[in-house]
Amino acid sequence: MAHSNEMGAPLDFKGLWQYDAAPEDKSQVKIAPRYNHFINGKFVEPDSGEYFDTISPSTEEKLSEIALANENDVDKAVKAARKAQKDWAKLPGKERGKYLFRIARLMQERARAFSVIESMDGGKPIRESRDVDVPLAAAHFFYYAGWADKLEYAYPGKKASPKGVAGQIIPWNFPLLMAAWKLAPALATGNTVVLKPAETTPLTSMFLAELIRDAGIPDGVVNIVNGMGATGAALVNHPDINKIAFTGSTPVGKFIQKALAGRDVSYTLELGGKAANIIFEDAPIDQAVEGIINGIFFNQGHVCCAGSRLFVQESVANEVMRKLKYRIDTLVVGDPLDKNTDIGAINSKKQLDKINELIQAGIDEGGQVYKANVSTPDKGFWCAPTLFTEVSQAHRIVNEEIFGPVLTIQTFRTPDEAIKKANNTAFGLSGGVWTDKGAKIFNVTSQLRAGVIWANTYNKFDPTSPFGGYKESGMGREGGLHGLTPYVNLD
Ligand code: NAP
Ligand code: MG
Repeated sequence: MAHSNEMGAPLDFKGLWQYDAAPEDKSQVKIAPRYNHFINGKFVEPDSGEYFDTISPSTEEKLSEIALANENDVDKAVKAARKAQKDWAKLPGKERGKYLFRIARLMQERARAFSVIESMDGGKPIRESRDVDVPLAAAHFFYYAGWADKLEYAYPGKKASPKGVAGQIIPWNFPLLMAAWKLAPALATGNTVVLKPAETTPLTSMFLAELIRDAGIPDGVVNIVNGMGATGAALVNHPDINKIAFTGSTPVGKFIQKALAGRDVSYTLELGGKAANIIFEDAPIDQAVEGIINGIFFNQGHVCCAGSRLFVQESVANEVMRKLKYRIDTLVVGDPLDKNTDIGAINSKKQLDKINELIQAGIDEGGQVYKANVSTPDKGFWCAPTLFTEVSQAHRIVNEEIFGPVLTIQTFRTPDEAIKKANNTAFGLSGGVWTDKGAKIFNVTSQLRAGVIWANTYNKFDPTSPFGGYKESGMGREGGLHGLTPYVNLD
């Protein structure tokens, strides 16, 4: 309703308390209608003139359009990276470190914008992007900034030199954080980079490109090109790259491995997972139930290390099931920008279809399904938290990565049985163990074939700790000192 004074003219509150009229307000998040490639320190139009839409999965509304990179754009980006590489590597480590510190600090300053954009573009709850994704991404740059001038201590008695130009391809589940995992160790060690974000979540990478420009990183050191699988493939197939770092699905990882066979390109692959979360009868059950919830419903279950296969000791199975059902009915599913939301939108229609197809397969194969009694918005892509009992290793939902808020639950009697069942998978990325006995933690975790195992907690990350898988979960490690090694040649 319009306010008016005695003379009938509308009151002008501007400059008093009317807040939305302040374009200088730095906390306002502005998404440009269109983003170009970031090549050689500049935003450049795509060779083909083609753009693709990025939408918000919670509203299905278009947020912006993004330049689509073809082979020529990828070639331009690789050439820029090649040209910049020698000078970047020649800089004293201390100077490279300063640039990385600057990126980290600017990311903290712009944390609000990054969090809001990440939640709008990808669907994850703002609580997670604000408290996990963005702070951890900044922490990654801080951590590797510290290594930049200490490589001689990282590799005593050896000389570490950069691989050269790194092609980096990332998925849509942690867009900014995965960009940080890739860029920080590469830049610290003197490599230059061409980054290819995922098709459904390009926006925080474009904000990162602006940040990198504002941080004064020399032209060509970081180049960002967007597009679909074909853009990623053009990067993999480019003849002048020295290293590929890929995070994504196991099928695409295998495809990349084949494409690189016989070529002088080193690579790391961070692929899918199907982690066992094991609850022993002596565990603090209420805490374990929270750990189960966090393990599978964090980020809608779009987590490579999600605790998607629950194993509960038989004697406490009824209690755990009762508490779990009660708890999932209390979860808030909805608007990613609402601070109270526990579970946001499924990242894309394609991913929702895949999750629903696997839920149907679980039902068809005889699993007992329990869907949380929660409401979901009408528009957008949503999946209520889902539990499956009466399942076995023979079921597709126990074997295949669902990458959604769907948990399979099996029971066991002895620790040996739990270990056998947990290891009975093609994957080997992560796992969880809940018990109050330290000796049992040691015994069980040392027999689980998985790269990361949490005890009495789940989904906790730190830049100092290496992350990566065994078997079909990939090869190589990111994070910690281990994360530097794929980016250096050692003499
Ligand atoms: P994806 O389909 O494998 O895609 C990953 C990235 O590769 C995207 O940027 C994708 O582009 C690109 N790509 C697709 N086809 C390609 C090709 N032939 N050559 C080169 N690049 C290609 O995986 P996603 O669905 O985005 O991500 C989910 C998967 O990532 C899950 O399996 C999850 O477990 C895994 N993941 C693993 C980790 C880990 O650290 N181990 C972490 C996070 C996620 P488009 O987006 O345009 O298709
Ligand atoms: Mg999007």
